[in-house]
Amino acid sequence: MTFDVGAVRADFPILSREINGKPLTYLDNGASAQKPRVVIDAMTRVYEQEYSNVHRGLHTLSNISTEKYEGVRGIVARFLGAPDEEEIVFTTGTTEAINMVASSWAAPRLEAGDEIVLSIMEHHANIVPWHFLRERQGVVIKWVETDANGDLDPEAVLAACGPRTKLIAVTQLSNVTGTVVDVKAICDGARDKGIPVLVDGSQGAVHMPVNVAEMGCDFYAITGHKLYGPSGSGAVYIRRERMEEMRPFMGGGDMIREVTRDAVTYNDPPMKFEAGTPGIVQTIGMGVALDYLMGLGMENIAAHERGLRDYARAKLDGLNWLQVQGQSAGKAAIFSFTMAGAHAHDLSTVLDKRGIAVRAGSHCAMPLMEHMGVTATARASFGMYNTEAEVDRLVDALEFCHELFG
Ligand code: PLP
Repeated sequence: MTFDVGAVRADFPILSREINGKPLTYLDNGASAQKPRVVIDAMTRVYEQEYSNVHRGLHTLSNISTEKYEGVRGIVARFLGAPDEEEIVFTTGTTEAINMVASSWAAPRLEAGDEIVLSIMEHHANIVPWHFLRERQGVVIKWVETDANGDLDPEAVLAACGPRTKLIAVTQLSNVTGTVVDVKAICDGARDKGIPVLVDGSQGAVHMPVNVAEMGCDFYAITGHKLYGPSGSGAVYIRRERMEEMRPFMGGGDMIREVTRDAVTYNDPPMKFEAGTPGIVQTIGMGVALDYLMGLGMENIAAHERGLRDYARAKLDGLNWLQVQGQSAGKAAIFSFTMAGAHAHDLSTVLDKRGIAVRAGSHCAMPLMEHMGVTATARASFGMYNTEAEVDRLVDALEFCHELFG
């Protein structure tokens, strides 16, 4: 099957609107992606015709909602190559997933002096939960830096592990530079050392096919809103052995089997980790988004985006007054850049006047910004519906910025 970017664009209603009198050029997919009509329609349909709470009722609507909601577990398992859908826990996104692993798996097991190895590229969602353990129980965070191209050497990650390392937590793809990490090599080496690996798949799962069974990770977190699904949806694959080691995360309805005045017994996983009324419609919407992606084929999407990356890289490299951070050869189509004389916020504002949406700031990755010696960058992050014509529009607008600020 070939990838028809025009047909894909036609599936996204928002892409035909204008911003400031110019066609929208949406290059902020790293922050959140737009939604195809199938997702919007599916969610509207649930609200209009099928909505009820899940797991609770014996009435028709509750059964429909429960069936649709629970059906998403299998879709996520297929999308991630997870052996068993019971290894999938629904979350509101990656932030909740990593906090869950920190609180339910790591906190009860780690003691003062135990270590967690992180890369310098991590998003705050994969840093702050570990700082909680540092502050509360003396866990030590060990950092592994990237090289001059922005690459992370799996051997350096493994070399940072000592006898007290209890977890490696690493992103598969940097939201700032687009660097792709060889997480399989890290998992292979970590398995030999008996160290579990958490992979932050927030960005990785959007841009390449993922198979957690082949990867060999213990935890793999995704967030629905970057996968062309709704905000407030997400999931985490948790290897069964790790799940059995986890205490419940939040307490409330659905995650219990029995509650008395004196005691409580818990539901079986994965429901043990899903307290309260979940994001029913969001999760159903995420399932539709993942089906849509699988219908297009993640390999086809990745190939289209590799073409965009190469085209954008050649164009941006030609702007010798633009400093692009992270030149890793196999990176995704995510470009963070600075321009002497212009703050990233100014670049973003001028680009917005031309209908171009980029993100500016520290991208929730302050340790990486410090490592790269910058306080803020502007970031153009491409998605599957972007085109070479949009790269040209970005380059034209940057040339205008250079005239304005240079
Ligand atoms: N990890 C990475 C690499 C991200 O890019 C993001 C979002 O920007 C997150 C984690 C957090 O995702 P969410 O805010 O959807 O939980």
